[in-house]
Amino acid sequence: MSDKFDVIVIGAGPGGYVAAIRAAQLGLKTACVEKWVDDKGAPVLGGTCLNVGCIPSKALLESTHQFHKTQHADVHGIQTGDVTMDVKKMVARKDKIVGNLTGGITGLFKANGVTLLQGMGKLLANKQVQVTAADGTVSVYAAENVILASGSVPVEIPPAPLTEGLILDNAGALNIDETPKRLGVIGAGVIGLEMGSVWARLGTEVTVLEAMDEFLAMADADVAKEAAKIFKKQKLDIKLGARCTGTEINGKEITLKYTDAEGAKELVVDKLIVAVGRRPQTQGLLSDDSGVKLDERGFIFVDGQCRTEAPGVYAIGDSVRGPMLAHKASEEGIMVADIIAGHHAQMNYDVIPSIIYTHPELAWVGKTEKELKAEGVAIKVGKFPFAASGRAMAADDTDGFVKMIADEATDRILGVHMVGGIASELIAQAAIAMEFGSTAEDLQLTVFAHPTVSEAVHEAALAVDGHAIHMANRKKR
Ligand code: FAD
Ligand code: NAD
Repeated sequence: MSDKFDVIVIGAGPGGYVAAIRAAQLGLKTACVEKWVDDKGAPVLGGTCLNVGCIPSKALLESTHQFHKTQHADVHGIQTGDVTMDVKKMVARKDKIVGNLTGGITGLFKANGVTLLQGMGKLLANKQVQVTAADGTVSVYAAENVILASGSVPVEIPPAPLTEGLILDNAGALNIDETPKRLGVIGAGVIGLEMGSVWARLGTEVTVLEAMDEFLAMADADVAKEAAKIFKKQKLDIKLGARCTGTEINGKEITLKYTDAEGAKELVVDKLIVAVGRRPQTQGLLSDDSGVKLDERGFIFVDGQCRTEAPGVYAIGDSVRGPMLAHKASEEGIMVADIIAGHHAQMNYDVIPSIIYTHPELAWVGKTEKELKAEGVAIKVGKFPFAASGRAMAADDTDGFVKMIADEATDRILGVHMVGGIASELIAQAAIAMEFGSTAEDLQLTVFAHPTVSEAVHEAALAVDGHAIHMANRKKR
């Protein structure tokens, strides 16, 4: 094997492995370096997303949602008797799904001719990449182009140091194998709400401490308000303005100390998940003379097309600016591989959907009403509740709404925000519409099949002009 590649990708998460496959598909001689190994020393591909992120969390969310639905099947006339959950089996199912997907990447690398280099990758000067394998062997490879896709790691906080089996980060949280009686979560962000939901559905008393006074500040205010109401009904006890000041472990219990507007408080839990955000993973990645610079927050500095300061070196995914989302990482990987292959490519950062996979799901794309108002954009808003959807009623899944925001002058859709049972699927319709520059009228004139939950998107578009059919809304002439 020659030691020179057209492209070397460092990191095999959804950013890196997708970039490597695309580059190889485009005829570039490509290698992907991954440091993660399992307990047998075999390479682990798929990064955070497949191993300890998106996929395992969704497997647990789906299992516990099915459990909850079965418990409430009586609404359909289905008599089930006592419903119980075998948590170990649920976790084993999750592990099997993870194994299938990560193993699948090995197959995809082989099928596409991507060379896997196991080891810790370090970018040296002049696009040389040093790889230190798990057994200590050091090799150096040259590349025409390098793509850094080293991802992110959880932020740790001094008052709650990770403690095996008790104080957990996202990886530990996904391996809890019996239902805790009491669970504490620090951070009411995406992980906190998703993992809190998993255990609340199984009967755990879940308390979530959130430092900010505002709940889900990144979401549209209507979504955050509706979600707060629903989570309260689901017995997720979310305490706002609550800062953890310390933890004390007594045997199998954790005493969580925190302060809120009322002063100092304590809470005793059996497990504590710390989910206060993630930070870019760049330790040991760059030699001093690599030419790559970090920004003031430690992210790899890149331009709008993911070029670093070093010519021929790109960076993508969680280790660069922008939302820490798998699909954002993958699309950046595709854009960069295309650019390297000489194609024109540009990613649309204005249309990246965000989803929180609770039930109902929270999903949005584009700008919030608050952001648009702050920018002084004149807007019109249409909102349609799932409670008025026949299909949602048939599914006994009527919580939430679709909210569409369009430009008052041009009618162009600027943001779509949803709370709903299958909002994660519906939001793709909004993303496609926005990517094509659709107006609300374009969706108004589109025929949606009946009866479908998607009709709520149609009705929200109609409501933008006060023309929704299945609810009373203002008339506009
Ligand atoms: P990563 O997935 O972090 O992969 C980076 C890879 O690079 C890792 O395998 C790492 O071992 C390797 N690496 C790092 N440094 C080196 C080095 N020097 N040499 C060799 N290898 C190296 N996003 C969504 O879009 N949807 C979701 O539902 C979702 N759920 C999530 C749930 C949880 C619990 C968590 C924690 C995250 C979730 N995310 C989700 C976020 C998503 O996982 C990340 O945005 C995504 O994994 C980022 O991809 P990446 O390729 O940039 O980095
Ligand atoms: P997050 O940024 O979503 O939420 C962290 C929350 O913790 C914030 O609300 C923050 O105000 C709060 N916080 C910070 N410090 C605190 C403290 N000391 N005490 C109490 N609260 C504190 O981060 P996360 O939930 O850890 O998730 C990390 C990243 O992973 C996110 O950026 C997200 O993009 C990604 N992720 C995505 C999905 C998804 O797409 N469905 C799921 C999970 C994770």
